[in-house]
This record gives sequence, C-alpha cells and structure tokens, in this order.
Amino acid sequence: MTEPIKLEALAEGVRRGNRRDLSRAITIVESTRPENRADTAALFNRFRIGSHREALRVGISGAPGVGKSTFINRLGVALADKGVNLAVLAVDPTSEITRGSILGDKTRMTDLVGQKNVYIRPTPTGLSLGGVPESAKDTVFLLEQAGFDVIIVETTGVGQSEISVANLTDIFVLLIAPAGGDELQGVKRGILEFADIVIVNKFDGDLKEAASRTAAEYASSVNLQPKRKEIPSAHPKTLAISAILDEGVEDVWSEISGLADWRKENGHWLTKRQSQERHWFRREIQSALVAMLERSPTIGTMIGEMEDRVSNGSINRHCAVKELSRAIRELWLLD
Ligand code: GDP
Repeated sequence: MTEPIKLEALAEGVRRGNRRDLSRAITIVESTRPENRADTAALFNRFRIGSHREALRVGISGAPGVGKSTFINRLGVALADKGVNLAVLAVDPTSEITRGSILGDKTRMTDLVGQKNVYIRPTPTGLSLGGVPESAKDTVFLLEQAGFDVIIVETTGVGQSEISVANLTDIFVLLIAPAGGDELQGVKRGILEFADIVIVNKFDGDLKEAASRTAAEYASSVNLQPKRKEIPSAHPKTLAISAILDEGVEDVWSEISGLADWRKENGHWLTKRQSQERHWFRREIQSALVAMLERSPTIGTMIGEMEDRVSNGSINRHCAVKELSRAIRELWLLD
C-alpha cells in the first residue's frame, strides 16, 4: 500500500495541476484491486470537499463514427485559444481488449494532443455496468481538483453508457449522424429524455440535406417530449453542424454555456449535482456489498452454486435470490 505521506504529496501535486501526479492519482482510482480502493479513500481524504473551483462538466456521446473526436478536437482548440484549461476523459469500451483504439482516439484529436492547457485521458470501461466505470466519477473529481475549467467526458453511445454519462456531467450533449430514413428510431427518441443538446454532425457536402432533415425531425420530436424542469422550454435544442469544416462548433459552445448559466440562475445546477452524488453513492454501495458477499466463504460459495442452478434451470432466479437473502440474514444476524 502507498504510504500516507506519499498520498499527501500526490494530492498536493494534483491540486497544483501537476500532470504526472494527476495521471498517477487517476491510475489509483481506476484500479479495481481492493488495496487500491483503500488508497482511493485515503487519497480523497486529502481533499477538502468544496475547496476546489467548480468545473463545467460536459458529456459528449454518440455512435462510433459520428464525429465525436473531430468535434472535441475543434471545440478543444477553440477553448484552449480562449485560455480555458480543458480535460478530456475518453471512455473507451474496447480498450480492455485492444489498447489500439485508445491510441486511435488520442491521435484523432491531433490538434489537442500538443496543447499546453489540454489534458486527455483515455479510460477503459472494464466490465462495469452501463459502460461507464464507477471510477469515472472519481476521475472527474480529481480533474476538478486539478483546476480544469471544462471537463469533457466522451463516451461511445450504447444506451446505458449515455445514461451514465448524463449522471456524471452538468450538460449532456448527444451527437448524431444524418439519418438515411425519415423516421426517428425509438431508441433515439428515448435518448431525448436526457439529452440537453442534440447535434447533428456532418452538415456538409452530400450529407447536408440529410443532416438538415434529421435535425428538423429531432427538433419537432422535442415538442412531443414530456416537459423537463431542468431545461428551458423548447429544449433540448437541435443544431446542425460540420465539425470537419469547423462550422457551428462555436454555436454549440454558446448553447452549452448558456444552458449552464440558466441552470445556475434557476437553481437546477446544485440540485442536479446533489442527485448525481446520491446516484453514485448508491451505485458504490451496491458494488461494495456484492464484492463483500462474494468474498465471504459461505455466501460466496452459495452465490456460485445458485448461479449454476439458475443457469441449468433447477431453481428459478427469484427463489435463488430469496434463499440467498435468507442465508445472508442468518449469517449476519440482520433484522
Ligand atoms: P468518432 O468515432 O465519433 O470519434 O468519429 P470521428 O471523429 O473519428 O469521425 C469519424 C469519421 O467521420 C472520420 O472519417 C471523420 O473525418 C468524419 N467526420 C467527422 N466529422 C465530420 C463532419 O463534420 N463532416 C463529414 N463529412 N465527416 C466528418
């Protein structure tokens, strides 16, 4: 285990924005090894909650190939030119198996890689539920402690991961590609329930007409959505842009910062962050409890046996869970 004194120095390095210390600290929080979980808790004790400047956390999600890297690259350059300190956390669903796609992402954001006030961190999804590791919440915290003004969390949209990233960020931006057909897919419509801004990318060349049609479809389906109190009426806004031609990227930024200001003025900013804290706390309790049960010799074995019996059909899932719950209660003398 890392000595407490080293953690103190590490925390200090993070606070000063030292990149090496920041990367080391993120590696600790990303680790799933039990001894490192203890280090994470000890490291977090070295930061005073509320002692940092609040960053604007922006989630950017979309299917592979929609143009996320191209867009983030453009936006990042524009922000860096304004003197904004930017961190990009790129959640990569495939990186556990092939480290290649991580490198791919880094090189696709070519203009950002060399920038002094930009920090890019790829992170594997691992085996986490919902495609976003729990550690992403901790990484965002560390990035905020390190003094970044804007933190972009990029995920490849596969439904669950979009919901998780919306729970991790202040503003959630959904990138979509110009659609071939003229009807919205149900899955996309569902996404509108938590997207704050919808961007139709590739509004250029041969795709211009399709992009414009797709944007109009999204814009009109917004009106059919149930009213959400944390966004102004007639939102989420739909914007058609071309990341590759750098057209409309600045408008997206105006929308993001405008919405952030509106939320702060209308009391939704803090409420949202507080409900996110609750969400991640619950999620962590669940995984900590499951891990604890699996480590217990009696219950761990029983879980394994039940799993086999459920899979071969000799017991149904509900009965298995009931039996397990009873055994846990007896073992731990719970009420
Ligand atoms: P990601 O997988 O979502 O990160 O997508 P990329 O940024 O890697 O882009 C995927 C492909 O779409 C690349 O070949 C890009 O050059 C292309 N692309 C990205 N943005 C645009 C755009 O605005 N217009 C057009 N026509 N192509 C784009």
